[in-house]
Amino acid sequence: MIAAIVPAAGAGVRMEADRPKQFRPLGDRPLLVHTLQRLSDSPLIETVVVVVPADWVAKARSELIEPYGLAKVGAVVAGGAERQDSVAAGLEALGPEVDLVVVHDGVRPFVTEAMIADVVEAARAAGAAVAAIPVAETVKRVADGAVVETVSRDGLYRVQTPQAFRREVLAEALERARAEGVVATDEAALVERFGRPVRVVAGSAVNLKVTSPEDWSLAESILSSLGRSASASKADREGTERMSLRVGMGYDVHRFASGRPLILGGVVVPSDRGLEGHSDADVLVHAVCDALLGAAGAGDIGRHFPDTDPTYAGANSLDLLREVGAIVARRGFRPLNIDVTVVLQEPKLKDFLPAMEANIAETLGIDPTLVNVKATTTEGLGFVGQGEGVAAYAAATIEAT
Ligand code: MG
Repeated sequence: MIAAIVPAAGAGVRMEADRPKQFRPLGDRPLLVHTLQRLSDSPLIETVVVVVPADWVAKARSELIEPYGLAKVGAVVAGGAERQDSVAAGLEALGPEVDLVVVHDGVRPFVTEAMIADVVEAARAAGAAVAAIPVAETVKRVADGAVVETVSRDGLYRVQTPQAFRREVLAEALERARAEGVVATDEAALVERFGRPVRVVAGSAVNLKVTSPEDWSLAESILSSLGRSASASKADREGTERMSLRVGMGYDVHRFASGRPLILGGVVVPSDRGLEGHSDADVLVHAVCDALLGAAGAGDIGRHFPDTDPTYAGANSLDLLREVGAIVARRGFRPLNIDVTVVLQEPKLKDFLPAMEANIAETLGIDPTLVNVKATTTEGLGFVGQGEGVAAYAAATIEAT
């Protein structure tokens, strides 16, 4: 289960206003409400915790959450002295069922669903991920009003939120930072400081952090241009819906090895040898995973389940397929049909094909008639014909939900 934590506990002294800037109106509603609505609209996020200044806890409920019907906001908690204290307070308010946390600034009202989906997916795979954009301007180090040097911008990125973390990764970083007295401007900096990988996904210049009066004017113009494009984008959406059928293909090969079971389509096929591999080496299910990921434009099985990750040693490939189904769903699609050809010289698979189809269909939650598995030999030709291994080809169609 995925939760969002929204640190919005800043006192907003920079804006010199009667109230902290996150509670001031942008267009027809408070800045923070825009942000909370974007997060609430994400089908990935099930609950949202907002962290506000202590004297705003009650007002946030009565002025923001209730009037705007922000039903996904489960808790409003008081922030701490530093940003990371606020995020830690948000983390404490989450139930044990939350295993992945998206942290997003309360003053970034233009976050998109694609950014959320990308950080979530990258954090599931790597533990932590941030949205960022490459530095486009020339960067100089300045002291006493004069340039000291021009800094190479190669590999320099401006980091934004959303940032996503496996819960235990974020909890560990916050706990160690507290114990060691380390303060950072974002949570990813703590995670990387403690030696954990942080993956980078594409942010956007539109994903503005509204801090200065100039940012405020820019945010107003972005908001009104989004309003103007709303009717056009509805037409675009309908156009996309007519083109919502997508197809992907997958191909995989595994080598025969003695002393292992032969697992194909989740069925243990009687054989004197099985297939070599990091997981259970179910070559047929791997091809199906790649076809589905390909159709969804979500990379391949190696990207999501690296064979260098001990988590997947001996993994049941149907569990990987289940996760692939979830990735496809998170991208807004459902499987329509799947067709597989498994290529091997022996043993004969005819009697096992219906069980393989049923396993794949059940794992994806679709009707068994939508899955077709067939087997062929290569008439003794090539590596398959020589009995060195098994190959599988799969095609999948998916449609927008
Ligand atoms: Mg494989």
